[in-house]
Amino acid sequence: MRLVLLGPPGAGKGTQAAVLCENYKLAHMSTGDLLREAVKKNTKLGIKAKTYMDKGDLVPDEVVAGMITEKLQQKNMTKGFILDGFPRTKGQAEILDTALDSLSLPLDMVVYFETKEQTILKRLTGRRICRKCSRIFHTINIPSKQEGICDSCGGELYQRDDDKEHTIKKRIEVYNNQTKELIEYYQEKGLLEKASGDLDVKELFAVLKDTFKKSGLA
Ligand code: AMP
Repeated sequence: MRLVLLGPPGAGKGTQAAVLCENYKLAHMSTGDLLREAVKKNTKLGIKAKTYMDKGDLVPDEVVAGMITEKLQQKNMTKGFILDGFPRTKGQAEILDTALDSLSLPLDMVVYFETKEQTILKRLTGRRICRKCSRIFHTINIPSKQEGICDSCGGELYQRDDDKEHTIKKRIEVYNNQTKELIEYYQEKGLLEKASGDLDVKELFAVLKDTFKKSGLA
């Protein structure tokens, strides 16, 4: 199964990707996670990306492209994958098409998480991430057993800088201006399926399971 999860920030892509990868044994590629890792390690790419990420802007396509094509060529991608947060522009979608063509790994489906703005704001302001393993929690919806500590690895939970209110608004604007048009792009290719990003984790997983079954993917 080769999937793209598309939707605004806070649609639940990362949380659902983790559940899907666990259940279907797929590789998970989140460009946000990869970029945050690069920032943490202070690599050349990370230093360049940080200025954009702090403002809620997209990192330019040419910066993301190399990172992605390298990742797609890794062996574990052949067993199936979920792309989470990529592509985010038409340029990136075209780069992805070319890369997957050359690897003979065409996409099976693009799931668009249709999500209300109210849900997005609630999700992002309460989101907490593990510094060590990147697992996602939420202060109200998915609280950790012990406050501030990751259930999986005991790492410290933190709030992303770009999950503060001002940057959230900018990220939604960026999504509407640069990413939303991908809905049509994938609709025209006959790959798009819609699901409600307003559902909770278990409900959405049940809907997706059903969608995959109906499409003969699982
Ligand atoms: P995310 O974790 O997916 O919300 O991404 C966090 C931030 O990383 C975004 O606001 C962007 O600044 C950057 N980013 C993540 N994925 C991409 C991408 N595919 N293209 C450009 N910038 C990205």
